Amino acid sequence: SPFVYAPAPESRAVVDIRPSYGLFIGGEFVEGRGGSFKTVNPATEEVLAEISEATDADVDAAVKAARKAHEKVWGPMPGRERAKYLYRIARIIAERSRELAVLESIDNGKPIRESRDVDVPTVAAHFFYYAGWADKLEFAGYGTTPLGVAGQVIPWNFPLLMLAWKVAPALACGNTVVLKPAETTPLTALLFAEICQQAELPPGVVNIVTGAGATGAALVAHPGIDKVAFTGSTEVGKAIARSVAGTDKRVTLELGGKAANIVFDDAPLDQAVEGVVDGIFFNQGHVCCAGSRLLLQESVAEEFLGRLKRRMGTLRVGDPLDKNTDIGAINSAEQLARIRELSDIGDAEGAERWSPACDLPATGYWFPPTLFTGVTQAHRIAREEIFGPVLSVLTFRTPSEAIEKANNTPYGLSAGVWSEKGSRILEVANRLRAGVVWANTFNKFDPTSPFGGYRESGYGREGGKHGLAAYLKGSDQ
Ligand code: NAD
Repeated sequence: SPFVYAPAPESRAVVDIRPSYGLFIGGEFVEGRGGSFKTVNPATEEVLAEISEATDADVDAAVKAARKAHEKVWGPMPGRERAKYLYRIARIIAERSRELAVLESIDNGKPIRESRDVDVPTVAAHFFYYAGWADKLEFAGYGTTPLGVAGQVIPWNFPLLMLAWKVAPALACGNTVVLKPAETTPLTALLFAEICQQAELPPGVVNIVTGAGATGAALVAHPGIDKVAFTGSTEVGKAIARSVAGTDKRVTLELGGKAANIVFDDAPLDQAVEGVVDGIFFNQGHVCCAGSRLLLQESVAEEFLGRLKRRMGTLRVGDPLDKNTDIGAINSAEQLARIRELSDIGDAEGAERWSPACDLPATGYWFPPTLFTGVTQAHRIAREEIFGPVLSVLTFRTPSEAIEKANNTPYGLSAGVWSEKGSRILEVANRLRAGVVWANTFNKFDPTSPFGGYRESGYGREGGKHGLAAYLKGSDQ
């Protein structure tokens, strides 16, 4: 059965996972002073490696290495020379893409089709794109002076892509970085450290400190950093904003979301079904901009739900390394517990749960593609981020009602509009309070486009020319 987990050893063989990993400081791997923690394969619960836990002293050493590299080498280096390193990193990522994709799927649980076709190519594209800016910064309009040392903290849902969003623009602008990957997905960041060595990047330009939230907190609080770039939960983002208040550190926050995907009755329905499926089931729904609220115009609601359920019945859940898999493993036992808890709350509050028949593997962390109908705006599943493959369906009659419901959220990261009418798309998009609005598509990412939110989704933009603003002195981002 395509639903039963079957290890794919031939894929696994392309990566060489070491039994233990140190921190990457000053161009070398060094043992952390805080002991170690384990990273596991969420599809099998197998321990993949022991990872060093960085202490405050390790974070301090990493920040000092970054400062030294910034002052002595990377800051003074002409942009055209920095560009050469970034192009080299981009080319190595492209050459080692299979290894990176397999490792990402093993450590994160995402389907290989996604890590191979979306994550890793987009990572390379970011390094190529920002390499192109390194010697043209004067044309961006934010000056050419780097901030100094950036402390960057990233989540587990797109481990390598979030690294690229942060590291590539920072380096292009002449900053050096200390990056903390999420504790459940450190392996591709550590492979990236090897890629920096392979590219002969000067020591200290990129430093990677692994550990749990306390390591991130130590990095953010370190007086030696000039900039904090954080992607993660709204709760931690708020704590970070409080901890840097009153300092002169610059901050960008990319936080949670509860995006509305609005389908009007004139939408191309089959295309919209595909977009809605992609919007919520891509990456198991572990996507900050996931289309987790489906707003259906009443006149097409029944027809649309019928087609959507038929399509959901064809989704294959299972082995992330199987090229036919559509939905992989949930990243951790904690995240699975959270998805279950919120889904149970959906039942208790009276919404109606539906999932296709789907045998889930006996070991590992899994959740079937799920939708809830009969959802009202008061329901917690309509308001809180579930961060899993769970779609809450609401209906509307008029465009104004759709806009009002879409905006009825504390978040403001993304939204989708499905309609044949260009005038309607533009009108609705202008009235949606969301940093990104997709029209007749969803979850499309490109290095040339800025991305970021409003309100509880954070502030600042990553990507495109705007992404440079976060790393140059002549802007207020
Ligand atoms: P999280 O906030 O728990 O963790 C994110 C990172 O912050 C991890 O590396 C973690 O170790 C670290 N961290 C935890 N406590 C910290 C503290 N006090 N100080 C500094 N660092 C700390 O979030 P998560 O569960 O890993 O990620 C899921 C969340 O991230 C979701 O809410 C999602 O919407 C959001 N997200 C947003 C975007 C975006 O671009 N807006 C992208 C991806 C994920």
